[in-house]
Amino acid sequence: MSVDAITRVKRDVVIANRILARNDVLDAYGHVAMRHPLDSQRYFLARSLSPAIVEEEDIVEFHLDGTPVDPNEKRPLYLERFIHGGVFEKRPEVKASLHSHAEDVLPFSISKTTKLRAVIHTIGDIGDGVPTWDIRDKFGDGTTMLVTNMAEGRDLAGCLDCNRMALMRGHGFVAVGRTINDLVRMAVYIPRNARVQMNAMRLGDYIPLSAGEIAARATLDPEAPAMKRGWEFWAKEAGVGHLLGD
Ligand SMILES: [Zn+2]
Repeated sequence: MSVDAITRVKRDVVIANRILARNDVLDAYGHVAMRHPLDSQRYFLARSLSPAIVEEEDIVEFHLDGTPVDPNEKRPLYLERFIHGGVFEKRPEVKASLHSHAEDVLPFSISKTTKLRAVIHTIGDIGDGVPTWDIRDKFGDGTTMLVTNMAEGRDLAGCLDCNRMALMRGHGFVAVGRTINDLVRMAVYIPRNARVQMNAMRLGDYIPLSAGEIAARATLDPEAPAMKRGWEFWAKEAGVGHLLGD
């Protein structure tokens, strides 16, 4: 029997947390959210908990401004949940959003000379010219560097603009998808792409994907069987295969 749409989304948020933790995209910190399937002004995100141990009962429903829908929700919440509200507010087509501190990506968030490029085919989705958001530009020199309110979340979403990913200077990145699989599949390869680029730079000149290749990758259906193959495998590998299905 099929589960209802809300249960499906909550389970998918759990699966996404576990896959991203298992693949070192998220560690003790970082989080992943999904827009509500029936109400575009709400989203689902875990309570403040490390992604590798998130369970279905940990998923909390939020208004876009970061307020829990249930006024009796008293559990600690992620300080940086405003990242997701900012993104979902600005990008109606985006259904899933994540925030990561993956170490392999960080050098590209602070380099004054070298940009993160798509260098492996699986990551063409990030496009050419990943923007970098610097909280200092608008919010000054004394922030904690965390995105702790909607003004900061909206500013970050403005930097992301129509891209799939934005770096956050000295902090991490935000990435988005049209579906949860679209996001998770791309995100698994973001640190791997960063490692390949860094290693290639040690060898000298390197060849990133061309504009034409990036455009062609963007035409792929994120829900096509070939693009979804990883979701099932990674879920089982992460110990949440029982949450797959209808
Ligand atoms: Zn963060």
